[in-house]
This record gives sequence, C-alpha cells and structure tokens, in this order.
Amino acid sequence: MLIIFLTMVVGGIVLLVASLPSIQSILRTLGAGRLRARWTWLHRLILGFLAGYGAFGAAHYGMATTQADLIVAAILLAGGGFVLMVARLSDMTTRDIVRTASLEHDIMRDPMTGAYNRRYLESPLDEEISRARRSNCSLSALMIDLDHFKHVNDTYGHQIGDDVIRHVSSLIMSQIRVSDILVRYGGEEFLVLTPDSASADANDLGNRLLHHIRSQSLTLPTGTILAATASIGVATLGDADTQAAFLRRADEALYEAKRAGRYTVHFAACQSVMATA
Ligand code: GH3
Ligand code: MG
Ligand code: MG
Repeated sequence: MLIIFLTMVVGGIVLLVASLPSIQSILRTLGAGRLRARWTWLHRLILGFLAGYGAFGAAHYGMATTQADLIVAAILLAGGGFVLMVARLSDMTTRDIVRTASLEHDIMRDPMTGAYNRRYLESPLDEEISRARRSNCSLSALMIDLDHFKHVNDTYGHQIGDDVIRHVSSLIMSQIRVSDILVRYGGEEFLVLTPDSASADANDLGNRLLHHIRSQSLTLPTGTILAATASIGVATLGDADTQAAFLRRADEALYEAKRAGRYTVHFAACQSVMATA
C-alpha cells in the first residue's frame, strides 16, 4: 500500500514539475503586463503545490497507509496530470495566437516602414467611410508624395533612398493620432486616413507634416545632411464619394500640389462642388 501511495504522490510531483517548462515558455512569450503577472502567480501556485505534495508524501512516510490516503494520493496524481495538460495546451495556444498575429502583421504591414500596406487599406477605409456616414463625422485623407525622389536615388543611391522613406514614415507616424491610419501607398507615397477630421484639421495636419518632414533632416553616414520635402493632397469625404472617388480626389489634389511647385498642401474641391463644376 505504501509503495502505491508513494508512487502516486511522486508521480504527481513529476507531472507538476513537467508542467513548469510550459508555464515558463508562456511567460517568455507574453510581454510585460497584467496577463504575465497572472501567469507568474500561477507559476508560484504550482511551486506551492509541489511543496504541498512533498510535505504530504513526507508526512505519511513510514506510517500505515489507509484507503483514504490512497484516494487522496490518486487525486493528487490526477491533479498533477490536469495541471500538465492545461499548461501544455495553454503553451500551444499561446504560440498559435502569436504565430497568427505575426502572420496578420506581415500580411497587413509594409516590411520596410512598418506602415500598413495598400492591400490592407480597403477594409478599414470601408469601415471608416461607413462610420463617418453613420455618426455624421468628417473623414479626411492626405496623400503624401516625396518631392524629386528620383534625384535622391540618383545622387545618393537606392539604399539611402530606402533610409529616407523609412525616416519620413516614422516622422509621419510621430505626428498622427493613434486612430489615424498610415499606409505606404506606393514607393515614396503615403496615405494618412484621419477619422473625425474636418477639412481645417486635415489642412493643419498636412501643414504640420510638411514642416516636420522638411525640418527633421536625415544625416547620412558621410555627414551629408539630407532634408526631404513632400507635397500633400488633402480630400475630405463628400456625401456621394465612393471609396475610389475619395482617394482619387486626394490623388488629384496631390497632383495639383506638385503642379503648384511642390512642398505645399493642396485641398481637393469638395465633392458636391466638383459634381456641379
Ligand atoms: P515628384 O516630385 O514629381 O514626385 O518627383 P519624383 O522624382 O519623386 O517622382 P516620382 O514620385 O514619380 O518617383 C518616385 C521614385 O521613387 C521612382 C522610384 O525610383 C523611387 N522609388 C519607388 N519605390 C522606392 C523604394 O522602395 N526605394 C527607393 N529607394 N526608391 C523608390
Ligand atoms: Mg515623388
Ligand atoms: Mg511618387
């Protein structure tokens, strides 16, 4: 009886110990935060159980084993198995979620800048247009294109050109709100979708971006200081705008900004005015 009792208690301890690597793997996967703190407590709880199992086994060592002791030992063994199963499944689930999230991130993001890619734009744009119409709020789009970028590539090389694109992307990111959406729309062309922004707000943002990009120059490894400029076309969603028409108006406004001599913000005529023009 004692052998069976001890085998079950030690078996329970082994199962609990075997669950610890899975818990530690979950802790490594989770960043700092409340969830991690909770898993840390669970880890401590399992260590507490281990101490309890050990104490229970030691307290019965050398004593007559009753049937009740055997039942308790069997419950402890099953408990160890349960903890191991839950820990392994949780670890597998956590890894799966992280893998899925990372795949989603890769599908939606431009690897060079971390901004959303153009493929991603369609669904949030649809959502934002519906939301703007439902709540009667404004929605604006800023189409941003770097000026004379071919010249940057030709003069400093494609690699430096890439650095400039990354630099400008982070400059734009630093100026927009969390609810705004930054998309790398083309090579050196970005789109900022800014909900709850009427034409005046979008215009302000456009001017702020213009000056920020110009003033935050990039120092090249050779010591050369490279100050990029951009042109910006802004459109605010009109009543009859489709997704395509909305973006087309922002694009046309960008074209006008280029025609006006670059390093400027051009505002698209509102949709109803265009329709009657
Ligand atoms: P503009 O002021 O009229 O915009 O002149 P631009 O020279 O910037 O003309 P345009 O916008 O048509 O040219 C974009 C250039 O950007 C062409 C292409 O070689 C370059 N480009 C596009 N994608 C990338 C990229 O990922 N990296 C680099 N380094 N260059 C790129
Ligand atoms: Mg350009
Ligand atoms: Mg371009």
